Amino acid sequence: MTLTVAISGGGIGGLATAAAFAQRGWRVTVYERQPELRTVGAGIYIWENGLRVLEAIGAYAEATEGAFRGTHFQQRDNKNRIMDAGALPADMRLVSPPRSQLLNALKNACVRSGVQIVTSTETVGATPRGELIFAGGIRVQADLAIGVDGIWSKVRESLGLESLHEQTREGCLRLIIRAEPAKFEKSDVGKYIENWNGLKRFLITPVNAQEIYLAMTCPEDDEEGKRIPINKDVWKESFPRWAHLIDRIGPIATWGVYSIIRCHAWSAGRTAILGDAAHAQPPNLGQGGGMAMQNGLALAVALEKVTDRRDIPAALEAWEASERPIIEHCQRWSKFYGEITYLPDDVRFRVVQSALSDPWVASQIFRAANHQPVGTKAPDARVLRNFANAYAESN
Ligand SMILES: Cc1cc2nc3c(=O)[nH]c(=O)nc-3n(C[C@H](O)[C@H](O)[C@H](O)COP(=O)(O)OP(=O)(O)OC[C@H]3O[C@@H](n4cnc5c(N)ncnc54)[C@H](O)[C@@H]3O)c2cc1C
Repeated sequence: MTLTVAISGGGIGGLATAAAFAQRGWRVTVYERQPELRTVGAGIYIWENGLRVLEAIGAYAEATEGAFRGTHFQQRDNKNRIMDAGALPADMRLVSPPRSQLLNALKNACVRSGVQIVTSTETVGATPRGELIFAGGIRVQADLAIGVDGIWSKVRESLGLESLHEQTREGCLRLIIRAEPAKFEKSDVGKYIENWNGLKRFLITPVNAQEIYLAMTCPEDDEEGKRIPINKDVWKESFPRWAHLIDRIGPIATWGVYSIIRCHAWSAGRTAILGDAAHAQPPNLGQGGGMAMQNGLALAVALEKVTDRRDIPAALEAWEASERPIIEHCQRWSKFYGEITYLPDDVRFRVVQSALSDPWVASQIFRAANHQPVGTKAPDARVLRNFANAYAESN
């Protein structure tokens, strides 16, 4: 008998989960509240762990085609001194495509796997019986329901699973500018560069040959810092070296603070939650989407052998027990990393320099990127070599 799954939310996590279930023979329907699948935000970092998930569900090639592959993730202070050179090891891939490219790749993997995607359908609640309730009172019942409906998840709320929803003091402006590589100094080319000054941060992320994604972080109460259209003078004063990028900023940007979500359980009966709905984290490690995708694949693998819906609740508990430690580790370290903002500049310089050169600290920060997600394979030497060559050719 074919088991069915109803997924609320057609974002990064929902689509990765849907593809993974459909590829294991489940009949999958995704319900998305927007009239079409689309993302908020500009670019997205996908670390080694997330790339392995994309490979496992057949979305890797499309998600990464033409996308920038940096060799360094560099940290610089208010005087443009390098706090951490951030050379990435050869066996840790990192790609930063436009978000829309990732979402399209996931959508196409779903379509190829037979997932049905229903848009303009807002979930307003759920029950532990694998049931989603939509606006207007219509209900669908499946063997399994999954809420991957983001930070303000209605599925989480109606099952009463939340134990903490904390919003950070700082938030971020996200936008895309056109790339003009000729204007980069040689020492800046081929890198992701995170610049710190006081309570502001300026993260430069090339996404492809044409575009650069800028993430500009400041406290929520910094009215000029978070202004849209962006107050270029304020940002140029803090980051004069990057005035040529700031001058290229157009009128479009999004602003948002970050959420940290913890739940006392990730499921009730035959209904589960994952992604930001269950374990949102600040984006300091660039892993929220990676965690959503890897947890969705892990869930599909955990339920692979289930043939009777009565066995689903126990399988959900086993999945949660196995996946929580890595996800909560990543959440914790992403939060610590954000605390660096509140150090005075000179103290931050010393702390970052010594902390990131400590192998133990580095191993904690990169534990998620180095994690082998359930249902994935480590890349062989040829894949890693091709990755490096593709980078060299595109630069
Ligand atoms: C500034 C910033 C930068 C980030 N950078 C990175 C990064 O570089 N790398 C990374 O891995 N992660 C990053 N993240 C985190 C990442 O964006 C999230 O963790 C990821 O999008 C979570 O995926 P999701 O599918 O759980 O939720 P979402 O992407 O939020 O998707 C939820 C989906 O559900 C839909 N939905 C919501 N409510 C309902 C409803 N009631 N009914 C039906 N549908 C509904 C939404 O429309 C949406 O399509 C960043 C986050 C922020 C804020």
